[in-house]
Amino acid sequence: MRKCYIQNLALIITNKCNLNCSHCLRGEKNNDCMSDKVIEATLNQIQGIGNLAINGGEPTLSLDRLEKIISYVIEKHIPIDEFTITINGTIYSKRLLELLEEINRYIGSKSVNALLAISLDKYHLDEISKLKIQKEFLENLQKYQESKYFYGYRNTKQKLFREGFAINLDEKLTVPLRPIRPLITYVDKNKKFNRENGLCNIGPLVTINPNGIVTECDASIKNQENLYNYGNVLNNSIEDIILAKGELILKPKKFEKESNRLLKRYWTYNR
Ligand code: SF4
Repeated sequence: MRKCYIQNLALIITNKCNLNCSHCLRGEKNNDCMSDKVIEATLNQIQGIGNLAINGGEPTLSLDRLEKIISYVIEKHIPIDEFTITINGTIYSKRLLELLEEINRYIGSKSVNALLAISLDKYHLDEISKLKIQKEFLENLQKYQESKYFYGYRNTKQKLFREGFAINLDEKLTVPLRPIRPLITYVDKNKKFNRENGLCNIGPLVTINPNGIVTECDASIKNQENLYNYGNVLNNSIEDIILAKGELILKPKKFEKESNRLLKRYWTYNR
């Protein structure tokens, strides 16, 4: 199996969550967490990552999974340019900040490249006030904001994808999920296209769920298993899974251009 470079790799490390927001794209939660086997099978086939994004569920409920990922990246010397994690802010974790410190030091550039985002919008706030944990939540925000890794808040001013519990919202607030099309190229040392011996580059975004399924970043837990189940890293290489989808193999320059275009279109689609 040859290794690949992935422009943006999203790992859904857990399906656990302590909230039950009415707009949640994941829908019904369960206790699935990414196993050591899935983490190793994924990272063993990776030569480098542009952005490594950690999602959930609520990642602070499965910090041992984050520890495993970070220690494995460091142990295997996998180059990454940027690391991001999104949490719901209801749990303050000093250990999380220590792990961000660790991965930021490993990335090693002068600027901060380990970023912490907190979901904050009316749906999260409704849930937080229902649980009567506003005071703790605000205290947590205060503490997280003081960290140099705090990047900002993620809100939902845009429309939501019609996945999970979001299918119950007013239709005007949602749009159907548009799967993000993966692209592949092969680049040799001279930066030329070389399918035989080049490094496999995949973009713009590959998402892997707790059970090793290559899927869509914003899909519900149910749809990750069915509609958007493209294959499992425990059985096949990411490269073969993407190729089996019949995706286009592009020349390097076209790949970069198209990949940037697709990512931009994805984040702004109808939103
Ligand atoms: S939106 Fe996030 S915080 Fe809210 S229930 Fe879903 S996973 Fe949990």
